[in-house]
Amino acid sequence: MAENTKKELLLEGLCCANCAAKIETRVKDLPGVNNASMNFVNKVLTIEVDIPENISNVMGMSKQIINRIEPDVIVKERVKNYKKVESKQDIHINQTFIDRLKEKKDLLLIILGAIIYLITFFLSNGSNIKLPLYIIAFLLIGSEVLVKSFKNILKGELFDENFLMSIASIGALAIKQYPEAVGVMLFYQVGEFLQGIAVNHSRKSISALMDIKPDFANLKIGTDLKKVDPNDVNVGDIIIIKPGEKVPLDGNVIDGKSLMNTSNLTGESVPREVEVGSTVLSGFINTTGLLTVKVEKVFGESSIAKILELTENASSKKANAENFITKFARYYTPIVTFSALALAFIPPLIIPGAAFSSWLYRALIFLVISCPCALVISVPLGFFGGIGAASKKGILVKGSNYLEALNDASIVVFDKTGTLTKGVFNVTEIFANTKFDKNALLQYTAFAESYSNHPIATSIVKYYNMPIDTNNISNYTELSGYGVSADVNGKNILAGNSKLMDNNNIQHINIDSFGTIIHVAIDKVYAGYIIISDEIKDDSKVAIKELKKIGIKKIVMLTGDNKKVATIIAEKLGIDEVYSELLPQQKVEILESLYTNMSNKEKLLFVGDGVNDAPVLSRADIGVAMGGLGSDAAIEASDIVIMNDEPSKLVTALKIASRTKHIVVQNIVFALSIKIILLVFGALGFATMWEAVFGDVGVALIAVLNSMRVLNVKKI
Ligand code: ADP
Ligand code: MG
Repeated sequence: MAENTKKELLLEGLCCANCAAKIETRVKDLPGVNNASMNFVNKVLTIEVDIPENISNVMGMSKQIINRIEPDVIVKERVKNYKKVESKQDIHINQTFIDRLKEKKDLLLIILGAIIYLITFFLSNGSNIKLPLYIIAFLLIGSEVLVKSFKNILKGELFDENFLMSIASIGALAIKQYPEAVGVMLFYQVGEFLQGIAVNHSRKSISALMDIKPDFANLKIGTDLKKVDPNDVNVGDIIIIKPGEKVPLDGNVIDGKSLMNTSNLTGESVPREVEVGSTVLSGFINTTGLLTVKVEKVFGESSIAKILELTENASSKKANAENFITKFARYYTPIVTFSALALAFIPPLIIPGAAFSSWLYRALIFLVISCPCALVISVPLGFFGGIGAASKKGILVKGSNYLEALNDASIVVFDKTGTLTKGVFNVTEIFANTKFDKNALLQYTAFAESYSNHPIATSIVKYYNMPIDTNNISNYTELSGYGVSADVNGKNILAGNSKLMDNNNIQHINIDSFGTIIHVAIDKVYAGYIIISDEIKDDSKVAIKELKKIGIKKIVMLTGDNKKVATIIAEKLGIDEVYSELLPQQKVEILESLYTNMSNKEKLLFVGDGVNDAPVLSRADIGVAMGGLGSDAAIEASDIVIMNDEPSKLVTALKIASRTKHIVVQNIVFALSIKIILLVFGALGFATMWEAVFGDVGVALIAVLNSMRVLNVKKI
């Protein structure tokens, strides 16, 4: 999405989830707006317009909408903080100073009101000062709610929670239910207050999970060290990373040796050893040694900046459950409010002897229950928590929709090389045709492969283990799914599978060996082959067993490698279907054929390493890139990124998805059924206003606390 058609607003002090949902709906309906998405968790409203010219107009109108619905919110345009690192303190003050000040003042008034309310219980029934005390207590406790609703009426905002509470409690006063009016207001305020604390707490825990942003870099200037913002460091600069510090930027170690804690990014608990020549990535924590690092990427391009951007945007891709709730909220409040009106006026008219005050009381109960807050807060919070929990495990989910879709996964398709196998090949045999020399064959092949990122290529280059002068290589081309072609020292080298040889009409030996065969032709003359073999990853087998256990119907493996290798590996791992000797495009065709046997609801997952499988990653319902750390292409093409290279992380992702769904559904069922029961009881005259307030804030509080359980990753 182009930068100039997308803007983000930070809504400081936003605490009413239902208002947040309303703001989103209204901004979405503005002319010129393609999409608007409110993230209640980090209080950010993302707006996308159709053409750049519309942006300032839309921003103006959006601010008006926000102001009308939530007058106390302070709107700021957001500077993306992963590009510009704000100091921790700034963020802290920004987010909470206003909130806290307001909270304190309101809290004092509420406490004062509560004390006066308590006093009334000790007064005799006939006491003259009882009524004035009730009124004072009511005003103290309810002042905030009353003022807000008054302001909103002036702006024509009727179905707002404050307004409904005001009407309900004033109505109760009018029918002389004084203690109840005050008590209900008090209960409501306390509930809101606790709910605010719970929401803030989970906001904090979620952002703490994602708090991987480095704060500073020790830049080396001559012999001096200067603490600078990571954004101010350039490629080629030298930085020092002391033990205990976070690596601020991606770079290469030029001096020192240390152990890195990578769990922030990979969820991996085993520390990674680094020494001169190793790459370190922004976000790792240096645990033991002092490192000197040459910076290779500016901060904005570092892996961590990409990851942060990805997780921050995740909530704009909403799950169906979230969209359903927003839609539901749109109708629920007006329906309940109008039913309340009907309840107040119709029965007294048609039922002989029905007392208006008793039906009014029932109507007031409806008003109190008419806010869908519990759902509107807890459902997004649940999904966001699920994404946070996954990121703690080194799994990046690019949207709530993908987390939700994981629950419908029925087919999992794996790429072989680098995904189920290590992608680190050992050379097991080199055969040179009579006219050629084994060493020369290896040398030519290593040179020809030196530009390729394919695991086969890197393994051959590694086995060759001698310096490669790239000046000797020209006309390099990678033939995806076939191999490579390059001119080395003026000779044309073709290295790849038998299809590559066939395509060039080169007679080659057909051998049947367990291993991947790289045929080599020099100047179109068959020169021999190199057999290499890969190893299955330690946890591939467990991963596949677990996947079946949690209900995946079919597990498929695709590979460009030869049939023999493919079948042996599939057998060892317990894979249901294998397709081998495929070109990248044919992998897509296999997916298409798998789709034809699936129902609409079922989802297909493809897991690959991003090498030669980008088209499949994007065609699958859910594309999962494995070993994503450091590979930008894989991060781009996929919907879920597994940061390390363990296939079993897929099982973790599925479990987190199922737990998230479970908790979200629990909340929806719980909140809705309590509300419906209370509406029925209220209409029949069995429920009092106390239960109604529980049905509003009490249920919301419980739902929020319940969705916080998603964050508990230890349970997975
Ligand atoms: P996979 O599906 O196992 O990941 P790829 O689609 O990446 O396999 O590659 C398919 C086949 O193409 C490989 O098994 C190999 O025979 C050949 N190939 C691809 N890239 C290279 C390369 N750089 N050098 C030699 N052979 C290659
Ligand atoms: Mg591959």
